[in-house]
Amino acid sequence: MVNLLDFDLDGLAAFCEGLGEKRFRAVQLLRWIHQRGQADFGQMSDLAKSLRDKLAGRAEVAALPVISQHESRDGTIKWLFDVGGGNAVESVFIPEDDRGTLCVSSQAGCAVGCRFCSTGHQGFSRNLSTAEIVAQLWFAEHFLRRHLQTEERVISNVVMMGMGEPLQNYDRVLPALRLMLDDHGYGLSRRRVTVSTSGVVPMIDRLTRDCPVALAVSLHAPTDALRDQLVPLNRKYPLDELLSACARYLASAPRDFITFEYCMLDGVNDGPEHARALLELTRRHAAEGLRCKFNLIPFNPFPQSGLLRSPAPRVLAFAGLLNNAGIVTTVRKTRGDDIDAACGQLAGDVRDRTRVQQRMARQRAATSQKKVVS
Ligand code: SAH
Ligand code: SF4
Repeated sequence: MVNLLDFDLDGLAAFCEGLGEKRFRAVQLLRWIHQRGQADFGQMSDLAKSLRDKLAGRAEVAALPVISQHESRDGTIKWLFDVGGGNAVESVFIPEDDRGTLCVSSQAGCAVGCRFCSTGHQGFSRNLSTAEIVAQLWFAEHFLRRHLQTEERVISNVVMMGMGEPLQNYDRVLPALRLMLDDHGYGLSRRRVTVSTSGVVPMIDRLTRDCPVALAVSLHAPTDALRDQLVPLNRKYPLDELLSACARYLASAPRDFITFEYCMLDGVNDGPEHARALLELTRRHAAEGLRCKFNLIPFNPFPQSGLLRSPAPRVLAFAGLLNNAGIVTTVRKTRGDDIDAACGQLAGDVRDRTRVQQRMARQRAATSQKKVVS
């Protein structure tokens, strides 16, 4: 069975062509699936009966099983999805006055292994397929429309900031991004789809050519010596190479700045000397056309990290130094921390994974029992 969530418009058109169908059928299908949330071919009323029959035996719109859903006091909703083989990934919906943002996962686990990230500590399981990436958005958007009783689009922004390093799963992430932007798909603005990366330099260059969207780069340190410790990928792609790639990216990016994410770790990277070193680093690349903003993320602790969150006054002083030097710097509001949905807390620690696996086993047992009963 082919899962149609695996295709962007060109992919679906090729699939339809294989069935002897014209491209406009792919447009119709895409609209039914993504704009209307329809998974049942029988309900797609303007599709030729012959096509519906062809699809029925060969294709499906397969969602991911939801293991759990938690809603925070602040309205943030976190879903845990079963991707099989004992793996689970999370998506988080963050409502704000003027937008609705979905944070999407790209891998089960992550191979980069950043010291302060609970997904990194979990290790790498596997890449998600395009369908598994898209299924997070498909489910969340249509669930939220029902939940909020609206026919209007709820999710206006997508950030690839869930579990995994999106640019280490480039070939699966690319069709998903195209579908987010496609007017027949989710029709999101390029400025409102953000890829966040720990700095996979060659893939930043490919993204510029293939699908320029907003780019966030997880910097976390102003020097190679420190960044090597925090983000091991830095040993392969050091800071000067990374910042030059960021400058090249801006030539065709939908926004005229890169967002640098910087996780504030107590006594590690949060002193005035680090802020000054950052200013020097970004100035060195300004001549290449680098323009940037900083987003300081309060560290969300988890048991095995051995790291602490920087005290608020230190974060504010750090932001002040950057702002005074003319670099717009914001401090990220922590959302959904009462349901472990904040940055870096996703399906991470071992206890949580054990709970996840127990829940999945219970759910499977319940489903098979139901089958026996009916
Ligand atoms: N792999 C990509 C995207 C996922 S991580 C990347 O690293 O950019 C999304 C963001 O959450 C990154 O900026 C990451 O550094 C940050 N993050 C990870 N663990 C965190 C933690 N424990 N507390 C706060 N932010 C964290
Ligand atoms: Fe991977 Fe990003 Fe976590 Fe680093 S911060 S381990 S790149 S998910």
